[in-house]
Amino acid sequence: MSGKADPRAAGEGTTSRTRLDRGRGALGPALQLVHTGRAPTRAVLTAELGVTRATAGAVAAELEALGLIRVDARPGAAAGAQGRPSHRLSIAEDGPVALAAQVHADGFRAALVGLGGRIVATAPGRLSVDADPAQVLGAVVEAGAGLLRTTGRRCVGAAVAVPSAVAEPEGLALNPLHVAWPVGAPVRRIFEECVRAAGITGPAFAANDVNLAALAEHRHGAGRGARDLLCVATGHRGVGGALVLDGRLHTGSSGLALEVGHLTVNPEGRPCHCGNRGCLDVETDPLALLTAAGREPGPEVSLLRQADDLVRNHRDDAAVRDAVAALIDRLGLGLAGLVNILNPDRIVLGGLHRTLLEADPDRLRAVVAGRSLWGRSGAVPVLPCTLSHNSLVGAAELAWQPVLDDPLAVLT
Ligand SMILES: [Zn+2]
Repeated sequence: MSGKADPRAAGEGTTSRTRLDRGRGALGPALQLVHTGRAPTRAVLTAELGVTRATAGAVAAELEALGLIRVDARPGAAAGAQGRPSHRLSIAEDGPVALAAQVHADGFRAALVGLGGRIVATAPGRLSVDADPAQVLGAVVEAGAGLLRTTGRRCVGAAVAVPSAVAEPEGLALNPLHVAWPVGAPVRRIFEECVRAAGITGPAFAANDVNLAALAEHRHGAGRGARDLLCVATGHRGVGGALVLDGRLHTGSSGLALEVGHLTVNPEGRPCHCGNRGCLDVETDPLALLTAAGREPGPEVSLLRQADDLVRNHRDDAAVRDAVAALIDRLGLGLAGLVNILNPDRIVLGGLHRTLLEADPDRLRAVVAGRSLWGRSGAVPVLPCTLSHNSLVGAAELAWQPVLDDPLAVLT
């Protein structure tokens, strides 16, 4: 990897070489700034990196030579009256991609994701996920490999989002409650084997779907700029949580932090798969809403779609209205407890929780404020997630991370 000689070292002029040597350590930070939309021009990049204009120029040129970004020296619109506008920086349209995969209770989705969290291509698949993780992981990697063949894009690595806590460092799915996998299934190893079997090189990762959604929202969506970002979301089944601290996922000592789904929000509530009863997981997920509204879940579309549709389009029905209010109150109770413990500066909600927030933001915010110490004094903003497929985009972030840390080492 990094032991290879840099093919450019011999061919270029001494001056730009020296500048780049000085700027080598700035390549990763520079790429991260462009990747997260924080350096739209070379002037901003120069200021953000705290380097000279010449070094920033050499860094931008190197990232362009690596095929990662585009440097536009003649941006169309002039920026005000003071001299010529700065070079515009953007993600290379035809640059490399990460293979992102997501497994959920109803099947999978594969996607190719470029820098900037841009989904280049995606392929969904529905199947009943059976007890052998290799079945669905094989299918999703095959779909992703098909997208790579069709687009002809270079792949930097692969990652899969799974509906389970993933224990590190082994990459084991510890509580795959909503898919039939055995507890402790070595999902990362199996995913990596599928990736290799498909002829895809680069690192392979596996992580919890809500953790990845939080990471994506922090870098590209509703969580941008938050310092202590709490994300709570439903998948198709169940509820997950994640915390991003200073730009990094807080995963705990072995990857298992923020299992918020098993907070008790209704002591007399329905039994949970964990052995307790009345957990957030079973009291506020799509199945809970359908049941509370007296609806029989149908097999034709996912539970999440059915529940979303009910909240959005059937609130004139009293049973639905009452069910929505009851779920909002239980969700608010859970969030209030988390606010007291974690003191986040922002909360973002995904899946059905996002839909519930949008249905009655005042009610949810009032419950959170009324039930939490810190929420009462200075209300914590509670916002909907904004990215489509944020778990997939977050999976791509994992696969992109080695490039974001040291682009030259990975790509040459
Ligand atoms: Zn539980």
